[in-house]
Amino acid sequence: MREISLEPLRLYPLASSSSGNAIYIGTDKSKILIDVGISTKKVQQGLENIGVNVKEISAICITHEHSDHIKGLGVFLRKYPVPVYATEETIAAIRSQKSLGALPDVFQVVYPDREFSIEQFNLLPLKISHDAANPVAYRIDGGEGRQAAVLTDLGEYNTYLEENLKGLHTLLLEANHDLRMLEVGPYPYVIKRRIASEYGHLSNKAAGEFLAKILHQGLRDIYLGHLSKENNYAALAYETVCQELRESIAGEYLESLRLQVVQ
Ligand SMILES: [Zn+2]
Ligand SMILES: [Zn+2]
Repeated sequence: MREISLEPLRLYPLASSSSGNAIYIGTDKSKILIDVGISTKKVQQGLENIGVNVKEISAICITHEHSDHIKGLGVFLRKYPVPVYATEETIAAIRSQKSLGALPDVFQVVYPDREFSIEQFNLLPLKISHDAANPVAYRIDGGEGRQAAVLTDLGEYNTYLEENLKGLHTLLLEANHDLRMLEVGPYPYVIKRRIASEYGHLSNKAAGEFLAKILHQGLRDIYLGHLSKENNYAALAYETVCQELRESIAGEYLESLRLQVVQ
C-alpha cells in the first residue's frame, strides 16, 4: 500500500502587527484562519504564497474585536461565508461595528476553557488579560499529537497560560514593544500606560520570560509577532527574547530553535 505523507500542522502568520493580524493554521485536511485584520486581497495573496487557495479555508476563529483583528472580516465573509468562532461578547462587539458592513449569519459561540472542534482540529480558547470584551488565545490540537497556539494581545502572562500551553510544537507569541522605547517614544502618557498595563500588550522581555517557561525540546517553530511599529523593531525583539532564554534553563534549546520575527 502506498504511504500517504500528511502535511504536519502548520502555523503561518499572513500578517501579525499592531496594524493587522491574520494567522493561517492548516494541515492537508483542514485549513483555518485566526483573525482577519487585513484585506481579503492580502489574505488571498498570503495564502497563495504558501500554496493554499483561499477557498480551502473552512473556518475563522476570532481572538477579540479590536480592529487590527477583524477589519477585513466583513468583506471576507461576504465573499467566503465560512463559520466564524468567537466568544459571545466578541461576537456582540463585532456585530456593533457598522464599518464592517452587513455580516452573514455565520457566528458560533465558544467559551474560554471549553474545547470545540473544527474538522480534525480540537481548539481550546484561553482567557487572556486585554482591554476587550472577552478576548481569548487559541490552542490548536491538529491531530497526531501536533499542537499550535496563537498568543497575542495580552498585558501579562500567568501560570494558567503556562499550564495550558505546555507541549506545543509551534507558536505565535506577541513581542509587542521594548519597554524603554515605549517610555521615551511618541505616544501620549495615557496610551503608554495602557500598553504597559496588565490589559495591554506583552513586552519583548515578558515574551522571552514566558517562552522560557514553556520551551521544551519539541517546540521548535516560534514566530514573534504583533510588533509595535513605533515602540519596537525586529532585531531588538529577537535579541531581547534570546537574551531571556540564554539566562534561563531554556537556553539549551536555543540552537535548535527556528525563531523568526514577523515583519
Ligand atoms: Zn487588541
Ligand atoms: Zn491586536
